[in-house]
Amino acid sequence: MREESENLNKELESKEILKWAISTFPKICIAASFGKDSVVVLHLLKEIKPDIDVIYIDTGYEFPETIAFVEKLKKEWNLNLKVYRPAMSVEEQEKIYGKLYFKDPDKCCGFRKVEPMGRALQNYDAWITGLRMDETEFRKNIKIVESQNGITKINPIARWCEADVWDYINRNRIPYNPLYDKGYRSLGCKPCTLAGKWGRFERAGRWTGTGKQECGLHLEEYYQKYSSTTDVK
Ligand code: SF4
Repeated sequence: MREESENLNKELESKEILKWAISTFPKICIAASFGKDSVVVLHLLKEIKPDIDVIYIDTGYEFPETIAFVEKLKKEWNLNLKVYRPAMSVEEQEKIYGKLYFKDPDKCCGFRKVEPMGRALQNYDAWITGLRMDETEFRKNIKIVESQNGITKINPIARWCEADVWDYINRNRIPYNPLYDKGYRSLGCKPCTLAGKWGRFERAGRWTGTGKQECGLHLEEYYQKYSSTTDVK
């Protein structure tokens, strides 16, 4: 019972944060990877602003299951989806750099995630994310409302833990990416994501063995480095 009421409180708090964000920022979007955290925030927004712009970055290295899930949810929830893609195709990038995700994953994420997201965010005053504090060492310092590169970032489920997310998904019978049922705990691009439990943190199956924890979407210095399309070749 205590756990139930704690979860309900977190849910109500997140809804209030979203209502505040929507009424405060006329030009607002949600950045969705369509992982479990994104679907929770999208579901919370369904009652508050169902037509919000949903930004999805298709890196070209996505799992086919993720692409299929994005299409399914777009159709079922009538999402106002805005897909952004990198300046270079995968083929162009591999012709110039080879397997950049092995050689220099920061640069690969810079080209394939940060640059297109920077382009997308030029149209908004604020963006909503599904970041949570317990995901990584870096994320434990995130705030519910932050500023990054001059744009307000709102993290409405920052205080939720991994179990809270699954509890919400199960209680509300929300569709989720089928890769979770294949043992993936955190989802990203196919070449950089492993199934299974690789470490203490939820995102340890991402860029395993490299020490990298973040793609750079939430790091100010990455935007400064990769925000210009003229730098991507
Ligand atoms: S997650 Fe991997 S494949 Fe995807 S953009 Fe980053 S380095 Fe490249």
